[in-house]
Amino acid sequence: SACSATGPFACDYPVLIGNDDYYGGLGGAFTISTKSVTSGSVVLRHEMGHNFASVGEEYDGGSAYNGANSDSVNNLNNLKWSHWLSEPQNPQIEQANILLQAYPWLDLAQGSYSVNFTAEGLNGGYTRWLLQFTASGVETQDSFEATLDGVSLGWITTGDLDRGFTDVFSETPLAPGVHTLTFRQLSTPTSGNIRMICNINLHEYGPEPMFHMDDSTFISAYPTYASSGFRRVRPGNEFCLMRNMTSEILCSACKESIWHQFLSRVSLIDSVVRLPSSDDLVSMQLNVIPVAQFRPIPINNEQFILQWMRNGIFQINLNDLYQWTLPLSEASGVWNVFLEFRTDEVRNDPSNLLQFTEEFTI
Ligand SMILES: [Zn+2]
Repeated sequence: SACSATGPFACDYPVLIGNDDYYGGLGGAFTISTKSVTSGSVVLRHEMGHNFASVGEEYDGGSAYNGANSDSVNNLNNLKWSHWLSEPQNPQIEQANILLQAYPWLDLAQGSYSVNFTAEGLNGGYTRWLLQFTASGVETQDSFEATLDGVSLGWITTGDLDRGFTDVFSETPLAPGVHTLTFRQLSTPTSGNIRMICNINLHEYGPEPMFHMDDSTFISAYPTYASSGFRRVRPGNEFCLMRNMTSEILCSACKESIWHQFLSRVSLIDSVVRLPSSDDLVSMQLNVIPVAQFRPIPINNEQFILQWMRNGIFQINLNDLYQWTLPLSEASGVWNVFLEFRTDEVRNDPSNLLQFTEEFTI
């Protein structure tokens, strides 16, 4: 009702913005974010991804793994994004091992948070590792510490109280065996906030090309672990903002899904109109949504292919003409106009969502 209160056609898409300075949000019937200057837009673009595209999560530790960016580990030879694979002749499940996945959401005033994990390291062929964690209420460098086996991981404060994202990457393999990761507050907060360890993910990876990381845009089958431990695969490593909220880019499978979703609702043919002309002439004009060659600055090799058919016969002399004039004797009949949209962002269109047609009679 807030959307309709803005007036007819004034609200394209409703978004609820929580009146809160810190991280939060949700996809679903509506996109929800907060007014946080540090994380509001980060959350917004991720949740809008869920709503604009038919895609689930790509990050570990969730529960919603469905849509164009998630597939079964048993579907390697028929992945939903097989037409986007960087090496389609050689699909592989990228060699990764998840060591930790936790959402402690713990107030560190209650004590430090320590967790043990068992690395395989070189015994499993894993040569490098990535720890990702988020913490909030840690606005100064002396407020918080993260250590691995007692050694500082070199955490750096974002300088504000909002939930902040930290990546620690190492190309030194973890020693096989048990390790301890510890998070603790180093000082008591003075501003009434609490210092919190929010979530933790730790993976070890195989070397190139067992695990493709050097090319951040590589599309393959990367293992993703639900909170239940169930394993799925996703298209990319850390490239897509449906996995990594700090990314500003969607992977090709997610972008393609957005086109499919939009074009299942919208025809790129706006109207076919007959222009004023003398009695013995007919002038027709096709109006299209201004994408492809009608964008001010063309992108992604977008292109419209336009064909006209009269009484079941293609009029090839009218191909790609958006306006034409013919003598009435050559124009009378039943017409069909066919408009096809092409873009580098769509490679697969099984439902012909990028093809549009209109029929009219002169
Ligand atoms: Zn994606």
